[in-house]
Amino acid sequence: MKILISEDDDVSRRMLESILVKWQYEVMITDNGIDALSILLSDNAPGIAILDWMMPQMTGVEVCKEIRKHGKEPYTYLILLTSKGRKEDLVYGIEAGADDYITKPFNMQELKVRLRAGTRIVELSEQLISARDAMQIAATHDSLTGIWNRAAIFDTFKKEFSRANREKKPISIILADLDFFKKINDRYGHPAGDEVLRETSKIMKELLRQYDTCGRYGGEEFLIVLPGCNSETASVIAQRLCHLIESHIINIPGHQLKVTCSMGVATLANFDDIDKIDLKDMNMLLKIADVALYQAKNDGRNCVRSLFL
Ligand code: GH3
Ligand code: MG
Ligand code: MG
Ligand code: MG
Repeated sequence: MKILISEDDDVSRRMLESILVKWQYEVMITDNGIDALSILLSDNAPGIAILDWMMPQMTGVEVCKEIRKHGKEPYTYLILLTSKGRKEDLVYGIEAGADDYITKPFNMQELKVRLRAGTRIVELSEQLISARDAMQIAATHDSLTGIWNRAAIFDTFKKEFSRANREKKPISIILADLDFFKKINDRYGHPAGDEVLRETSKIMKELLRQYDTCGRYGGEEFLIVLPGCNSETASVIAQRLCHLIESHIINIPGHQLKVTCSMGVATLANFDDIDKIDLKDMNMLLKIADVALYQAKNDGRNCVRSLFL
């Protein structure tokens, strides 16, 4: 655990430092509140800080207030170091955002247990953040392919659609559907089908530009959102994807498979008739992509058809 000691008194600071190093903490030191604040707000900041109350430029209490104002994550456990013993001062310090306090001259055993309590809180906070992040990923990603799930890709589409309208820039979407996918499942089994979905998603993710997004829209259907792309560019991207997918060999136990994909491209480039974006317009674009996809299927599959709104 990393700990910051911020104390302007040399003797007290050195003493604290040597004890904490002996207790195997990774120690950082400063002798003023301004440096303490900037260290605590930086990336990879210490989880615990021991802040002297009285310091030049910025007091420990002021550092506490600033840290809490930022609502920093993960949580920083703040211990005030004070020679003040008056209860009202301590109430003030805790109200400013400190978690605990130690009065000078400090007792080693007391310091040890208070640091242990702080370590527990910081570790718990880190665990909570990781659990929350994992839940966030699970809620927005497709568990089979790792790409965005239906709700998340639709959300991105919504954001990009209204941004396109705001900036009067074109937006295209691609609806991609694997050809005769049912046959893969029937012939080689469901796990083979799953592998095909994973590999196809990987190809899409790798080919797309940084600001394009792709998600699993349904079983073997993908939705790709291409902000700023006109119909020609979107069509070129879709064709390139089709080509990459058809030429990619997928290894499953005992077999090497190849699949193809049909794609419907829909573009919105003219915003003249739209003053307030609503779901109806987005659904219209999706509907058009679906019609284009249907045409691609009818025209023999493994091809791209484009329409615009
Ligand atoms: P088309 O070329 O007309 O699109 O034919 P298709 O066989 O691809 O389309 P169809 O809609 O008939 O079949 C889609 C199949 O996708 C049926 C379903 O079992 C399969 N599928 C959907 N989700 C999954 C999945 O997560 N894993 C696997 N292995 N198969 C899936
Ligand atoms: Mg001081
Ligand atoms: Mg389908
Ligand atoms: Mg299909």
